[in-house]
Amino acid sequence: MNYRSTRDTSITPAFVSSAEAIKKGLAPDGGLYMPEMLPKLSSMDIAALRPLSYARRASYILSMFLTDYDRDALTADCEAAYSEEKFPGGAAPIHKIDDELMSLELWHGPTCAFKDMALQIMPRLLSRALTMTGEDKKARILVATSGDTGKAALEGYRDVDGVDITVFYPVDGVSRMQKMQMTTQEGDNVNVCAVYGNFDDAQNGVKAIFSDKSLSERALEDGMFFSSANSINWGRLAPQIVYYISAYCDLIENGTISDGDEVNVCVPTGNFGNIFAAYIARAMGLPLGRLICASNSNCVLTDFIKTGTYDRTREFFKTMSPSMDILISSNLERLLYVIGGAALTSELMEELKKNGKYTMPESLHKEVCEVFAGYYLDEEETAATIRETFEKNGYLADTHTAVGIGCARKYMEETGDRKVTILASTASPYKFAADVAEAVGHKIDSDEPAVILNSLSEATGTQIPAPLLKTLTLPVRFTRTVDPSEMPAVALGK
Ligand SMILES: *Cc1c(COP(=O)(O)O)cnc(C)c1O
Repeated sequence: MNYRSTRDTSITPAFVSSAEAIKKGLAPDGGLYMPEMLPKLSSMDIAALRPLSYARRASYILSMFLTDYDRDALTADCEAAYSEEKFPGGAAPIHKIDDELMSLELWHGPTCAFKDMALQIMPRLLSRALTMTGEDKKARILVATSGDTGKAALEGYRDVDGVDITVFYPVDGVSRMQKMQMTTQEGDNVNVCAVYGNFDDAQNGVKAIFSDKSLSERALEDGMFFSSANSINWGRLAPQIVYYISAYCDLIENGTISDGDEVNVCVPTGNFGNIFAAYIARAMGLPLGRLICASNSNCVLTDFIKTGTYDRTREFFKTMSPSMDILISSNLERLLYVIGGAALTSELMEELKKNGKYTMPESLHKEVCEVFAGYYLDEEETAATIRETFEKNGYLADTHTAVGIGCARKYMEETGDRKVTILASTASPYKFAADVAEAVGHKIDSDEPAVILNSLSEATGTQIPAPLLKTLTLPVRFTRTVDPSEMPAVALGK
């Protein structure tokens, strides 16, 4: 299977292997890599996948996309990434909230957030890609994070051969717990740096570094090249397709649905990566109905789905679901490409860059609406959803997951479509413990992570996840804060 850019049709080579795409991260024209075609998932595949462990399901599905990877090597990598040690009790368990809503808990990994699902395997895929492409330079992973990606990437890449990692986070855009998780990161090949501004400033800074030719030349002189771990990298996206297919298998196995039944999916969305993975699973043939795109007050995607106009020139809100405080949803470009083609995609991306907005042709907007539904929750609604879900269903949801729950309920009420819905639950409630505690009526008058975690545990009778308990005991290693203009220097290790 070969990969090509979402933008230019004229670059050479037009196609690269999956190892090449994972190694590069971003295409030379600034576009994102996409498979030249999508593999088909038949009911025979589902039957074959059902009895398998998560790791085996992952290697089965990944091998459909990463055809140049050795199958046994992929299996070994998946077994290591999704082991009992990394994901105690299983990688992506389903918790039934009520008859319709199935919480797909993607946060049982080392950092208690869903990005572990991709970032425990991605470094292994990159490491293999370097060997497969005969690379002799070191890959320096640059990450812009709104909180969870950074920690998950640091954990995934720490002490992996042939790579090191530098993470940039917006100084006021992450929770205290997230900041503590990152600044205490262990490992000999890790660097963490705060940036003045919001997530988009950090992400734009990293994108600018990737497209700066003179900078990459200087990096090469120092024996390294830059690569990404953000969800724009295909190596991040492909592993996310797995858990939707795996969840479908589990729903058959536990008797919730019959083979062939259509289910809806609801995803709390920021960069459009997680929900785009569901879109791919659907395009492969998994019986998914509507994909409900859930946003917080930064509802740029809700408006896009409703109107066909993507307009990022709007007020930016800091919310209690910071990993969704995003106005440029990078992976949306992949959707544009799939339904509109490369020429249209480059045109619209150019427009977005120039004017901060673009409008899709009406016929294509109609196609978007046939698959996606967009809803959002404001802060009050999010808190109310956490409280109600805890009181009525006995389920403690984090702030992001709550946005998903509330949007799924709005969708069901508005449309009457009450199909079984896979809800992507993206973080442990303990990662956003202060807001979750307040929502269930226990305001905590401290910003000390230890106090906050213990208070939530006492208030709700739930347990603090072991990885977060451990973070409390580690010393802070990284304290630097820079302007976005200084990010290139940091990237070069200056
Ligand atoms: C990253 C993240 C999201 C958004 O995922 P995207 O792939 O960017 O849409 C939602 N919730 C949490 C907790 C996250 O960390």
